[in-house]
Amino acid sequence: MRFLAWLVLGLLVVWAIRSKIKASAIRTENAEVPRLDEPELMVQCIHCGVHFPASEALSQAGMLFCSEEHRRLHFSS
Ligand SMILES: [Zn+2]
Repeated sequence: MRFLAWLVLGLLVVWAIRSKIKASAIRTENAEVPRLDEPELMVQCIHCGVHFPASEALSQAGMLFCSEEHRRLHFSS
């Protein structure tokens, strides 16, 4: 009976370690998510001066604009 108790204890320890590894693996996965939301390179609209992410920038003639409207307005004025 004593052996059985040790076996159960051993299995519990293995299970606890396994679930801990799993939990930490999930935590690392989750920790990587905010990295994607990291503030990206900000650029300035040449027309209104607002700062916005470079991925949303519209460019024309080497100038950056926050929106299609501002690009149009800049070249029409
Ligand atoms: Zn603008």
